[in-house]
Amino acid sequence: MQRPQRLHGIAVSPGVAIGEALVIDNEGFRIPRRFLARDAVDGEIERLALAIETSASEITNNRDSVDRQLGSQYGAIFEAHLQMLRDPRLRSELEELIRHRQYSAEYAVSRALRRYAKVFESLESSYLADRTNDIADIEKLLLRNLLGVRREVLAQLTSPVLVLAHNLTPSETANLDRRFVRGFVTELGGPGSHTAIVAGALEIPAVVGMGLFLTDVSGGELVIIDGNRGEVILHPDEETLARYRQEAEDTRSLAVRLQSLRNLPAETADGVRVELMGNIEFPHEIEHCLERGADGVGLYRTEFLYLGSDVEPTEETHFEAYSHVVRAMPRCPVTIRTLDLGADKVPCGLTEPIERNPFLGLRSIRVSLRNLPVFRTQLRAILKASVLGNVRFMFPLVSTLLELRQAKMVLADVMEDLEEHGIEFRRDIPVGMMVETPSAVIMIERFVEEIDFLSIGTNDLIQYTLAVDRDNAAVAGLYNASDPAVLKLIEMAIRAGRRRGIPVNVCGQMSSSTTYTMLLLGLGLRQLSVTPAAIPEIKQVCRSVTIPQCEAVAVRAMTLENARDIKSFLKEELKKVVPEFAA
Ligand code: PEP
Ligand code: MG
Repeated sequence: MQRPQRLHGIAVSPGVAIGEALVIDNEGFRIPRRFLARDAVDGEIERLALAIETSASEITNNRDSVDRQLGSQYGAIFEAHLQMLRDPRLRSELEELIRHRQYSAEYAVSRALRRYAKVFESLESSYLADRTNDIADIEKLLLRNLLGVRREVLAQLTSPVLVLAHNLTPSETANLDRRFVRGFVTELGGPGSHTAIVAGALEIPAVVGMGLFLTDVSGGELVIIDGNRGEVILHPDEETLARYRQEAEDTRSLAVRLQSLRNLPAETADGVRVELMGNIEFPHEIEHCLERGADGVGLYRTEFLYLGSDVEPTEETHFEAYSHVVRAMPRCPVTIRTLDLGADKVPCGLTEPIERNPFLGLRSIRVSLRNLPVFRTQLRAILKASVLGNVRFMFPLVSTLLELRQAKMVLADVMEDLEEHGIEFRRDIPVGMMVETPSAVIMIERFVEEIDFLSIGTNDLIQYTLAVDRDNAAVAGLYNASDPAVLKLIEMAIRAGRRRGIPVNVCGQMSSSTTYTMLLLGLGLRQLSVTPAAIPEIKQVCRSVTIPQCEAVAVRAMTLENARDIKSFLKEELKKVVPEFAA
């Protein structure tokens, strides 16, 4: 019986999940935990011997080739791998696990080598700690030779699991099988990563940025993912399990209670209407918005059309996705954001040159403006869908006026083209931009003269204002929506929009947290676009407060000097109006 182990990471999607761990290796394949029938043991040991021999000859070939090209001092690296692989103690430990515990060879390899890696990792000497990577390489090689074509991919799940992985890209996360994956944990990843955002879309608990911990697990064991506090509990005891089962039950009953708000407006106690919309990544999420009584779609991240598939979407594919969403909400605004590809959102199968600072590189509107055929295809599809309802265009990551003007010129050109071909579309379709860079805020008075609405993308605005990579666990503590510099920029954007008389929305993750609702309303915001699952709670806060109360909170918050004080002040204020949400 293993002792319970509580590990800490970054909470990115709320809820509690309890279940069997499925460990994904670095190449995205699962390590099966299989117990063998007694009579299969000898065959399994033979399979192991063969895998060791094949792996050894691969290493020998690599050593010889490096010897020839670079000299024997480099080839010696492989010599060390060979020695480890052929170590008789390792061999007998593996055979023992297969023979006496009846583990499959894969499971025995991953279990034994992860234990070795853990020992090395804990040693004081940094030279020895670095050997962990060598052990991981040997594990990978052996698994590749054992699994061969039998490697099972994540797509082939048949029962509920909690996924534990070194890393999951947004596209891998988008492709998780929603029927079986009940939560996930990753060693890498930051608080604003798109992997985190997709977890919210899948409505499963998730914790990222755990640091290395997979050496402690090999799959099959019972795990708890606490997406509320950012914790993972390995081998939980009965008492912990009972506590978390109760918490999961409480969350379910709160959700049921909040369902009664579905058909009520997001209106403050003093009668001010707030437009509460949903953020979506996939067309099917429109059902999540409808279930929660959303007032529309404030952000449709269309790049996920690319992330979920190996082939480039055609105009027809774009149109089908948009028309599905618009038809489901024909009278409500549906804000379709043009492609925001690049940085951490790289389509499956696309091998772009590696950029040193991808978040400062070729991403978002910059990609669209450099790939006009791709951009035009999308614009045509959105325009065609515009006749089906209340569609709005939105350009992401605009950082200069020139960029906005270029994007609008391409749009005007595509409109002309459609007109020439007699294809119907709404010429008066509203065109908005995301406010995600400090430069956009600094120039906001000029921008508002050229667009119909603003939407503040705080996920990026935080990273560019504070110079903190949203995807990097090492600086996650510095990534903070309540930083006064970020709040000042948000305030400037809201004021500019109001002065010009155009709608302003916040669609970054910040708006999905009840902590910030009073502040944002107090700063003058009357539109919020949030993860669909957060709609009921945000609506409950809106209905529990008055605007003067929120304004007083905003005035006070804006006088505080640091993120920590602001956040705890906001939590205290929330506690006064809706005590059950103030965790
Ligand atoms: C944002 O940056 O706040 C935003 C909504 O866009 P994304 O998270 O897709 O970058
Ligand atoms: Mg963004």
